[in-house]
Amino acid sequence: MIPPGSTIGIIGGGQLGRMLSMAAAQLAYKCHIFDPHEHPPAADVAAFHTRAVFDDAAALEAFGAAVDVATYEFENVPVESLAVLGEKLQPGTRSLAIAQDRATEKEFIESCGARVAPWRRVSCLADVTASVLKVGLPLILKTRRYGYDGKGQAWVHARRDEQPAWAMIGEEPAIAEAAVPFVAEFSVILARWADGRHAFWDSPRNEHEDGILRRSTVPAGDLVAPQVEEARAAALRIAEALGHVGVLTVEFFASADGPLVNEIAPRVHNSGHWTIEGAVTSQFEQHIRAICGLPPGLTGLTRGGAVMENLIGTDIERWPEFVAERGAHLHLYGKGEARAGRKMGHVTRVVR
Ligand code: AMP
Repeated sequence: MIPPGSTIGIIGGGQLGRMLSMAAAQLAYKCHIFDPHEHPPAADVAAFHTRAVFDDAAALEAFGAAVDVATYEFENVPVESLAVLGEKLQPGTRSLAIAQDRATEKEFIESCGARVAPWRRVSCLADVTASVLKVGLPLILKTRRYGYDGKGQAWVHARRDEQPAWAMIGEEPAIAEAAVPFVAEFSVILARWADGRHAFWDSPRNEHEDGILRRSTVPAGDLVAPQVEEARAAALRIAEALGHVGVLTVEFFASADGPLVNEIAPRVHNSGHWTIEGAVTSQFEQHIRAICGLPPGLTGLTRGGAVMENLIGTDIERWPEFVAERGAHLHLYGKGEARAGRKMGHVTRVVR
């Protein structure tokens, strides 16, 4: 057990690191953020900040020596450079390595007996054409690495889109995935302990706009509810196969023939932000509990449910309206510039 008073290292200093640090502080842990930016959102609320790039071996070694346990809130960190953290890193590099590469991730998900949309590996334009013939149209190209919030993705609706879509994703190694005619999207968020104990939250229904999460709603409703049991079983098999410690999020499409896994995030997730006010224990506190070996907190709803809306780009200008709204929980991430597509904050409304 890593007792309160110890130092938790967090790789990545975005809003997830910020909310992890705030939850850790409640239990008297100190957080040490590792992030290359000058003023990352998490550093405002953490005890320490190492400013270094993610593959700076000397900085990571010093960071490892300064913390009692380390975790990550961001996937695009070179796995090799984290080896220096050894057993202190929770979850381990296996969860990270699998989630970093969409092709490895899909194969792993299928090896766990979970279903995904038909897909193929793509490494040249001819592969795109072959995928169109095998997988059918429309399909979506997704770069294997470094994609997030719909970035590194391009749709192929017709044969004439093959070349422009391939150019749009930068001719990077990719996967081609069939379009899923989903009725809804949802996620399974769970926390797992090293000894196999685990806890699920209610699954939110997730609505995306332009590839970015717009809203998460709990309870998820009739389109999602009948698929949650199968999805939970699949998510747990994935967590166990990874030997995952901490929060794991698995995003699903609810399709006419059941849940299909979209992707895995080996960390706390935007679709779990509602748990701060909507659940007895938030995803952030539970992650801290799991990686420090404290007992699991209850994950049930505090009220009837919750709706979380992201504040993206200039949505943030409406903060005076949200902060004045009775019962609305406004979270601001303290980011400087409100660029288009940037997650600036969120608002949660708990349903009575
Ligand atoms: P991703 O980055 O893979 O989570 O994709 C972002 C969003 O794009 C998803 O949440 C969906 O709304 C949409 N999307 C991704 N892949 C597919 C697909 N195969 N079929 C339909 N919509 C998709």
